[in-house]
Amino acid sequence: MRITVLGGGPGGYAAAFEAARLGAEVTLVEKERLGGTCLNWGCIPTKTILRSARIVADTRQAEEFGLQATVASVDVDRLRARKESVVDELVSQVESTAKRLKVRVVHGAGYLAGPKTVDVYCHDGSEEKIESDAIILATGSVVFKLPNIDHSLEGVWTSDDAVAIPEIPKNIVIIGGGVIGLEFACAYAAFGSRVTVVELVEQVLPGNDKRVVKLVQAKLEELGVQFFLGDAVETVERVDDRMVATLHSGTVLESDIVMSAVGRKPNSEGLGFSEAGIEMDRAAVKVDAFFRTNVGGVYAIGDLIGGMIPAHVAEDEGIAGARNAVAEIRGEEPAMTVRYDCVPACVYTFPEVGVVGTSRDSAKERGIDAVQAVAKFAANGKALGEGESDGFVQIVAEKGTGRILGCQIVGPHAVEIIHEVAIAMHHRMTVAEIAHAVHAHPTVSEVIKFAAQDAAAKCGV
Ligand SMILES: Cc1cc2nc3c(=O)[nH]c(=O)nc-3n(C[C@H](O)[C@H](O)[C@H](O)COP(=O)(O)OP(=O)(O)OC[C@H]3O[C@@H](n4cnc5c(N)ncnc54)[C@H](O)[C@@H]3O)c2cc1C
Repeated sequence: MRITVLGGGPGGYAAAFEAARLGAEVTLVEKERLGGTCLNWGCIPTKTILRSARIVADTRQAEEFGLQATVASVDVDRLRARKESVVDELVSQVESTAKRLKVRVVHGAGYLAGPKTVDVYCHDGSEEKIESDAIILATGSVVFKLPNIDHSLEGVWTSDDAVAIPEIPKNIVIIGGGVIGLEFACAYAAFGSRVTVVELVEQVLPGNDKRVVKLVQAKLEELGVQFFLGDAVETVERVDDRMVATLHSGTVLESDIVMSAVGRKPNSEGLGFSEAGIEMDRAAVKVDAFFRTNVGGVYAIGDLIGGMIPAHVAEDEGIAGARNAVAEIRGEEPAMTVRYDCVPACVYTFPEVGVVGTSRDSAKERGIDAVQAVAKFAANGKALGEGESDGFVQIVAEKGTGRILGCQIVGPHAVEIIHEVAIAMHHRMTVAEIAHAVHAHPTVSEVIKFAAQDAAAKCGV
């Protein structure tokens, strides 16, 4: 049973490891370093940088905590070195797991040469043809570049440049108020940059609940971030040493750096997919619920298939894809899918955001009789003690049954505590079941219990 995985990001390496655990002979092809966007340019470097930014932001409040402290300056070289050591450590752990599970890693650029064949142009100059019983495509995504911006201009960054932290710019204009844009806005504002965010839609974090985005925007404004919402950057020029961005409204913004954070697109160009007969939806590979493409034995997962694109979704799709591929080779029916309705989505701004499931408005639009209960961190002892009492937990549940439909959290440790609700939703629990579970005191998780109690009463359960 031979399986080849093309792309070694969180989707690809999760697929490779799962297939190996199930007894397959696995080859994993990676053209850069194992770990993909997530470990090398995405989740991990950004969160490592945000940790330093958080220390700076917290230190500004030292006096409030009865402390005398200041951060004199940001040592960019040390900051970068720390980020790189965290990334190196995690990449080496993925490499070790590959070794332990006897996954053969081929370093080179792969190309789908046929339904059973991957050709690799190896880094050492050689070429390899890999034949297998199943192929899992996991080539991820690349930065989406706006056509009206010349990315070759000095002073124009994407997130790939920003995680490299070449400098802390005095002024930075960030195009895009989504997750990536706001996380960088938060980090650079804490480090002392003057940050301006331009967002096409009338709100930051498009698609999120209004109450959530209002608070996040207000807290970022307190950090010094300026927002232009419902506006778009039309042109970017370099004039002497400065960047000049002209917005649709006519506003002209001057800065040292313009960073484009307008999203990513599936990485499928020039990889042989269409030529091998694989059905595409623009740049994304089309798959069914079991991650099968229309070509027998070829699966696809992660950012490459579009849709929801956090790393944890790629990972779960990788595991499901691998299990289904193994089942198919064994002559069994593929059965594993991913529960997209209870995937947590997190934003690591100050304060953090954790969201799962639906908002009340979306539930109502779908004809569900939904109630909403809100509990604030302002009444929580742990949050007050930590000096982080802004924010709330908002639970959405179905009237009459108490079925949990969603939850939005803004506030301390939101990205951690959202899992209580995500797991409850995964197991189809009710708000009453959360409300009846003992929660330790004092913890910020108690706010979830209070919201659940209120929701249970509103649902009549
Ligand atoms: C700045 C930033 C911050 C992010 N923060 C978060 C976060 O906090 N949480 C979260 O869940 N998600 C986050 N993401 C998204 C997350 O990184 C992706 O969803 C995730 O990495 C997708 O995994 P993947 O395996 O599908 O693709 P990728 O991680 O993109 O991996 C694809 C791999 O395939 C390789 N590859 C491509 N083409 C070939 C080829 N021809 N041959 C061989 N190898 C090839 C690439 O080199 C890469 O290693 C962030 C992304 C960015 C950009």
